[in-house]
Amino acid sequence: MVFIMSKQGNFMAMTTLDFYLADVWKKTVDAVRDTHQVDDNIFNSFFNSSRLLNLDNNQATVISPQYVQTALLKQSRNLFETALSSVMGQEFVINFVTENGGEALTSQIKKFGAIENRFLIEDFSKKYTFENFVIGQSNVQAQIAALTIATNPGLVYNPLFIYGNSGLGKTHLLLAIGNKVLDNFPNKKIAYLSGSDFVDGVYKAAKDKALEEFKQSFQPLDLLLIDDIQFIAGKEKTHEIFFSVFNMLVNSEKQICLTADRIPSEISGLEERIISRFNQGLNVNIEAPEYETAVNILKRKIESLMIDSQNIDEDVISFIATNFSRDVRQLEGALNRLLFYAINFAPDKDVISLDVAFEAFRDSKPTQDETLSINLIKEVVGEYYGLTASQMASKNRTKNIATARHIAMYLSRKLLDAPYKDIGLAFGGRDHSTVINACEKIEHEIKVNDLYRKTIADIEGRII
Ligand code: ADP
Ligand code: MG
Repeated sequence: MVFIMSKQGNFMAMTTLDFYLADVWKKTVDAVRDTHQVDDNIFNSFFNSSRLLNLDNNQATVISPQYVQTALLKQSRNLFETALSSVMGQEFVINFVTENGGEALTSQIKKFGAIENRFLIEDFSKKYTFENFVIGQSNVQAQIAALTIATNPGLVYNPLFIYGNSGLGKTHLLLAIGNKVLDNFPNKKIAYLSGSDFVDGVYKAAKDKALEEFKQSFQPLDLLLIDDIQFIAGKEKTHEIFFSVFNMLVNSEKQICLTADRIPSEISGLEERIISRFNQGLNVNIEAPEYETAVNILKRKIESLMIDSQNIDEDVISFIATNFSRDVRQLEGALNRLLFYAINFAPDKDVISLDVAFEAFRDSKPTQDETLSINLIKEVVGEYYGLTASQMASKNRTKNIATARHIAMYLSRKLLDAPYKDIGLAFGGRDHSTVINACEKIEHEIKVNDLYRKTIADIEGRII
């Protein structure tokens, strides 16, 4: 096999393949967890024991020890297929199977305890650390700020607010802070949760008339990490609770770190008093990796897969770094796609050359900043829904036209990071708050509606 140089024989080749499959599956499971659509307890009790057995063309086989696990995995089939397809950079269908026929699971899913137990972090995944975070111009500010916080929690900037587009390493840095603090101060109490976990928590607590307990459950924390805080926007009760949790912790010099997809003042539906609290700390941005950083990330990733870098042509790295560097997730997806192609279709080549890479990416159109524009996005989305460019920009509010327009606005923001004002102008001179609302509407739909997510991923695939 190509990655291990044939001299080293099959056994090594198998190990590399196993290692590779394990890595792909881990990424897939993490991506599904990131959607926050599956209960954490189900994850911990059931999904972590599943394994990716093989990848063959566009079929994947996933095995789990017990049939209950298989059944639960099947229930979330769409989520897993979407995640695996995005990790691999191409569509996959998954067959879920059970080892040895499997046995019925007798124990019940454990019920959650108090909110604090659910989110309390005692053992962070060592996958997201400062050591394996590659630094470049695009992210060094955020990295330095995060490292400063991790070594002096509660003492410097409070809160630390990291913002940037999806796939640029925000969650990675947040968890790296958690890891580092835990290494340096093993007794500190740390919690990691997402903005939507917080919203759910408030909702459940309100139903159980236990809002005060909910608030107090944060009190013992030394470090509170909230990922994707934008999801609390527009929710009045949540704001109130968040505001008092925030003040309680900051006033007693407990550290808070937050991430969001944009700067606080641009999160519409976020109360002024909360924005102003966020601005009292430090806001740092992460941008898309520039070429050198993209190359370094790819090299690091190749190294971590225990693949000898001699086996991949420099030109190939350069090709991927140039064409797939919109974000780090896209870089990783492209590398996975290349490795998958090389293992399956070019197993007898010693070195992955540019020819192999061209073949692997034959059907995909890489991102090219010059050609990718709001107009192109408008055109592709319009084509998808059978609408003309003028319909897309019109004031027509018919549902399918409005939906197509919202999706195009959302994708212009996501793929180009275009200013809301420019997007509004390109869609018939709408004002920026209309665009923000459209983007939020789509973000929400993506979270709650599988079909929506798949459709948008499909459209996105036609653009990039
Ligand atoms: P975000 O939270 O901003 O959407 P993530 O933190 O989930 O992005 O990052 C997406 C993937 O890219 C993860 O696998 C992460 O480990 C990886 N990644 C992002 N930035 C870097 C970096 N600078 N060095 C190494 N890996 C990175
Ligand atoms: Mg994230």
